[in-house]
Amino acid sequence: MSKIILTRDKEACVKCGECVDVCPHSGENSLVEAHVIIQNPGEIPEIANHENCIGCLSCKDTCRSEAILVEGITEIHSFLLDLQVWEKTRRIL
Ligand code: SF4
Ligand code: SF4
Repeated sequence: MSKIILTRDKEACVKCGECVDVCPHSGENSLVEAHVIIQNPGEIPEIANHENCIGCLSCKDTCRSEAILVEGITEIHSFLLDLQVWEKTRRIL
């Protein structure tokens, strides 16, 4: 289980569901039964089973509304975020 805590900025969330799609433990292609993020049609996604979050931060990285707030980011998480930024930059170059 990840030590980070994810919350939603409910004002910023546009309910697009992209965070659910990219999460390896949520959505249609989930690798676990108890999905971390659950989104009912037309509603803001909720963190339902935090114990299955692996802390990859793909959800935060993909959210264009910056609606995913993270507490407890460690050095390894910062490194992962930097890596994701680097990957995006590399694809553009
Ligand atoms: S990706 Fe961001 S804006 Fe879209 S549903 Fe998830 S939290 Fe909301
Ligand atoms: S940090 Fe990774 S595992 Fe956790 S909710 Fe976000 S995408 Fe899913």
